[in-house]
Amino acid sequence: MSAQIIDGKSIAAELRGKVAREAARVAAAHNVVPAIVVVLVGEDPASDVYVRSKSKAFAEAGMRAGDRKLPATTSEAELLALIAELNADHDVNGILVQLPLPKQIDPHRVIAAIDPAKDVDGFNPVNVGRLARGLSTMAPCTPLGCVMLAKTVHSSLAGMEAVVVGRSNIVGKPVMQLLLAENATVTVAHSKTRDLPAVCRRADLLVAAIGRPEMVRGDWIKPGATVIDVGINRVADEAGKSKIVGDVAYAEAEKVAGAITPVPGGVGPMTIACLLLNTLRAACAQNRLPEPQI
Ligand code: NAP
Repeated sequence: MSAQIIDGKSIAAELRGKVAREAARVAAAHNVVPAIVVVLVGEDPASDVYVRSKSKAFAEAGMRAGDRKLPATTSEAELLALIAELNADHDVNGILVQLPLPKQIDPHRVIAAIDPAKDVDGFNPVNVGRLARGLSTMAPCTPLGCVMLAKTVHSSLAGMEAVVVGRSNIVGKPVMQLLLAENATVTVAHSKTRDLPAVCRRADLLVAAIGRPEMVRGDWIKPGATVIDVGINRVADEAGKSKIVGDVAYAEAEKVAGAITPVPGGVGPMTIACLLLNTLRAACAQNRLPEPQI
């Protein structure tokens, strides 16, 4: 039997629709239009494309997205001064600094300088700490999307055996924290884990955030498990053309899993939808409005 395909594209479209409806309600009732500013340092065509698609998604949701572009020669002090300016600007609800930054700038210092209330990426140490404490916080977008996708299959994750492969600060660790908050029993595996296939086979819920094309094979998956594939890897197909694959060998895995996210069209679309959600939540909190009901 083949697995249920978790259609991230349509689930993300539904979430974007809900955010848009709440944003319209907040704008009508309170005259607040949530706004994000994306900060880009240096020229990077891929980032430009990303920023354009973000602006479009924000506009479609009735929210504002601006950008501030700085040259690659920008000093850390200059970038910190811009962050301070955006922190103080009441019309800016979310600040997102596009990574990586040029090598003269310490990204940790920059992320720590963002007002935690405007940290829609959820990377500021205050928000990381709140997440670890189990307090309400701004959770990072991709991990939030992973958990939302899992919850479209299982209304409760409580007691589930979850294995997260990958322990990065931007994906693996926050996914672990969010799954713990959902009362799953969580194992985090990484490059030093012994017998990774056996660890993965324990999982009712397997999250792969590794960055290695199709590393997780079909026989690593417990029959009926839910598989969330975060990986985005560009590889050459048989004809030498470039294509995107995940960290899970999809063709093998979908024969064993109960439910699985495709790549592309799984976790990817959820990231931007969750960024819209975080920006709306930030705008409501900053204006002392009730948390949006989404
Ligand atoms: P990362 O910072 O490179 O972390 C990769 C993690 O995988 C590390 O913890 C590493 O272990 C572990 N790992 C590497 N090789 C391994 C192996 N052979 N066996 C077991 N574990 C291994 O990557 P990331 O930023 O978390 O991203 C992971 C993937 O998700 C990438 O493909 C990335 O493109 C994708 N991604 C997608 C989205 C999205 O929107 N869909 C967003 C972010 C990232 P160690 O810690 O021991 O080195």
